[in-house]
Order: sequence, then C-alpha cells, then structure tokens
Amino acid sequence: MTVSPLNTTAPTVAATTQDTLLEVRDLKKHFPIKGGILRRTVANVKALDGVSFAIKRGETLGLVGESGCGKTTTGRTVLRLIQATSGEVKFENQDVMKAGRAEMRKLRRDMQIVFQDPYASLDPRVPVGVSIAEGLRIHEIGNDKEQRDRVKVVLERVGMNATHMRRFPHEFSGGQRQRIGIARALVMQPKLIVCDEPVSALDVSIQAQVLNLLKDLQEDLGLTYLFIAHNLSVVEHISDRVGVMYLGRMVELASRDQLFSHPMHPYTKALMSAIPLPDPTIKRERIILQGDVPSPVNPPSGCYFHPRCWLAQEVCKQEDPVFEEKEPGHWAACHFAQ
Ligand code: SF4
Repeated sequence: MTVSPLNTTAPTVAATTQDTLLEVRDLKKHFPIKGGILRRTVANVKALDGVSFAIKRGETLGLVGESGCGKTTTGRTVLRLIQATSGEVKFENQDVMKAGRAEMRKLRRDMQIVFQDPYASLDPRVPVGVSIAEGLRIHEIGNDKEQRDRVKVVLERVGMNATHMRRFPHEFSGGQRQRIGIARALVMQPKLIVCDEPVSALDVSIQAQVLNLLKDLQEDLGLTYLFIAHNLSVVEHISDRVGVMYLGRMVELASRDQLFSHPMHPYTKALMSAIPLPDPTIKRERIILQGDVPSPVNPPSGCYFHPRCWLAQEVCKQEDPVFEEKEPGHWAACHFAQ
C-alpha cells in the first residue's frame, strides 16, 4: 500500500482495525502570513503538510524531529486546540474536525494533554487541587466533595500526597509539577493523552521517574499516548511505534524495534547517529547534517530533505518521494530507502 502525503484521499498509515483509537489522515495546517495595506495572505507557513498515522488503543506512538518540524502542531491540531487547514482526524471513528459543540465537549474529556512546562500551565494563584479539579468543574462532574475525593485519588496515583492539593505550584519541584500536570489530565479519565515534550524540561534522573510513571499508568488504566519529544532516547524508552517528522511531514514510521535496529530514511539515520552510546569503548560515526532546516514558507522542490541529504541524487530535487510501506509496518519517504 502506498500513500502520498499530498493526496487528499490518502489511506491512513497503519492498517486501521477495530482497535484503532485515533486515525489521522493527510492533516495539514498552514498559517497565513499577511502583508500589504489590505492585509492579504501573501504566503503560508506549512507547519503541517499532509501527516497520516493511526494509533491503536493502549499503544504509544512517539513523534520525533527537530524543533519546528510540526510535531507539537500535530498534537494540538489532533485535539483541535488549533484548527486544521484540511485533513481528517477520527477518534473512535468520530470525526473530530466536524464535531459540534456538544460532541466536542464529550471528546475533550476523552482526549487530554500534558504540556512541556507544567508551571506555565498551572495557575500560580490557586492551590493545585483547584487546578486539577478544573476539568471536573467545567464538565460538571460530581459535587464539591466528589471532585475533592477524585483529586486526592489521582494525586496519590501519580505518587503525590493527597494533602498536596492545598499547596501552590511554586511549592513543588519540576518533577512534582509534571506529576500534577499528569494528574490534571488523568482526573478526566481520558482514553488518549497527548504528551507534548513532558520530560524535556526535567533533569535526567527525574525524566526516568516521570516516564516510568507514564508507563505504569498506561498499563493500569489502558491509556493511549501520542508522545512528542525531540530526544530519540526518550521516545525509544516509551514508544511502541515511532514516527519521524521533518518540515511538516512524516518521513519514517515503524515499530520501535524496526526503527532503532534498521532506520531507513537518511534523516532518521542522522538523528540516531547523535544518540550517545552507553558503552564509551564503542564508537559510532556521527552524521553531521549540513545547513539549517529550510523555511516551511518555501520548502525545497522534490524531497524536502534534499538540500541536507548526503545521498541526494538529481531525482531527489525533481520528484517528491512517496511515503510508502518499504517492509511490513515500516514506512519511509525516500527514493533510496532500503
Ligand atoms: Fe535523501 Fe533523496 Fe532520500 Fe530525500 S529522497 S532522503 S534527498 S536520498
């Protein structure tokens, strides 16, 4: 099966089954740039340029790529925190993009987000218990006592003390604040959590604790994660499958084992060559990419990666490689991927 990221009838990458929780098809988000006296649209920033994937219930799909590749926009567009330019998002077979107010209200309970900077996402003027219960109040779930009881349960579930609900955000460490961020998502009993760089701002030792907590919660509660990170080691630790993004597109998608044992796309190979090896006696050749990521306003012709790719041939400048299944479950967009 082949799929072009530019084809609006593109099938979703990964066979959709009864177990598919989230299905994203040819998702695009173009931010207009206004200019002139009449403030007309003079160009578009193609933050997302045709992304397709599916996530099964209970699965973790990791999304990686350099800053500005579109991974955060993907997460937010899927949740409809940002309105997509085009494409389709289906959650439990329901069209998220076309959901009305009432349907969206229900969907918001099932789809939650954990942000990179929990401090910025918590109101510094109110005790954390109030912030955690915010979703329950908005959705009118339970009375005051029931809401308090639920906050206590989730705080304990994320390894905090129930008495912490009366304290303010500044009284906690970064790791504790991220646990509070997770508690705030969990209190709604969601099915899907978009984890947007949830450990990037934490010390390495704390990162492992938070990742292990997310894994435990997934096992106990059957959660599904879209896990966004720029660090491949973090993604390897937590993901079942991994998607690699470059300039608003998915360039490779495979199971974690396939991707880490046999990366196909040159960009993925370059990212992997930068992962430090635990054994200092083993040397790995580092692939240094030349140049910067091109502008998403005016992406290169053909393969978007060709100006930085050491394997580029003439065809790469002319023809956009199709994102296709190179081996079962392993997708890549490269004329020479093998
Ligand atoms: Fe490199 Fe060509 Fe493959 Fe693009 S299509 S990644 S330029 S080899």
